[in-house]
Amino acid sequence: MIYLPENQSFTGNHSCMRHLLFYALPLVMAFSACQSSPTPPSTPRPAYAIAIHGGAGTLGKANMTPEKEQAYRAALDSALTIGETLLRGGAPALDAVEQTIRYLEDCPLFNAGRGAVFTHEGKNELDASIMEGRTQKAGAIGGVQRVKNPISLARAVMEKSPHVLLSGAGAESFATEQGIALIDPKWFYTEPRWQALQKQLESEKSKPKTGSLESTNPDYKFGTVGCVVLDKAGNLAAGTSTGGMTNKRWNRLGDTPIIGAGTYADNAVCAVSCTGHGEFFIRYAVAHDVWALIAYKGMSLQDAANEVVMKKLVEKGGEGGLIAVDKNGNIAMPFNSEGMYRAFAKPGEKDVMIF
Ligand code: ASP
Repeated sequence: MIYLPENQSFTGNHSCMRHLLFYALPLVMAFSACQSSPTPPSTPRPAYAIAIHGGAGTLGKANMTPEKEQAYRAALDSALTIGETLLRGGAPALDAVEQTIRYLEDCPLFNAGRGAVFTHEGKNELDASIMEGRTQKAGAIGGVQRVKNPISLARAVMEKSPHVLLSGAGAESFATEQGIALIDPKWFYTEPRWQALQKQLESEKSKPKTGSLESTNPDYKFGTVGCVVLDKAGNLAAGTSTGGMTNKRWNRLGDTPIIGAGTYADNAVCAVSCTGHGEFFIRYAVAHDVWALIAYKGMSLQDAANEVVMKKLVEKGGEGGLIAVDKNGNIAMPFNSEGMYRAFAKPGEKDVMIF
């Protein structure tokens, strides 16, 4: 806007015109110079970007043998390769997220699909969600017991139902209607997860019955899996899948199936997938909070993610972390726990990390 002193019209006053030329022209020129040559972003947007996590928590540095560490690294690397290969070939962000998470769900090392933790009653109840940044459509499922790949059911909810979140028996009937076969829950069983529940039940005997979750146990491991992606077309997507927390009761749902808590994606801003003590991630709408700091405050992805995970969650006592990618392909992976299984790739760059 150009300021004109009171009672001086644009056309009728020569001294005003002189003032205008003197003061306003340089401004106009500077403004148009800014418009025509915008400051380039510090690094150009990569053709694609992908980040994955395999859970945050006390990973037990002391108990981590070289063999175990190698197994986790190899599994993360294989999952990353699935996603990266799809992205390099031009696949849509959603496909990369779904296929990468399916691999992690089938891998017994992680707390999702096969290898999920057990509930107080000795069952596996699985939660998952997926969100597409382009349309901001989302799908999620909670507490399913017989769906081999919960992430694919979450995607079906997004694409083939009018809803966002389905749970329990209803979600399983929807799966059947969609031609997704239900399987024997024994598929999810793994001995270490069963033993973790027994240990938890044993330690509970000496304490009042509060239905406490495993995070009170110093050996606690999370282990949820997640993936965030920027594809070649500039679309973002995020997905998360989990068995929840050992010894959970009363059909407890965590943050994973809650859009805005465990998962969020918006092409204009970023895609986020969380892992950690879900009750905190729900209460502080963690994934959406990262989005909001960028969208409303103009923060960088790294600053926004740090603000939420390293400041707010730490203050509130919520343990965990997240992975995020923004529309420019920047990646952030902060965690406030002992470790977080994580990996990322962009063209020419790749890393797999544990502690
Ligand atoms: N956030 C998950 C939950 O609370 C657990 C995890 O990330 O390991 O259900």
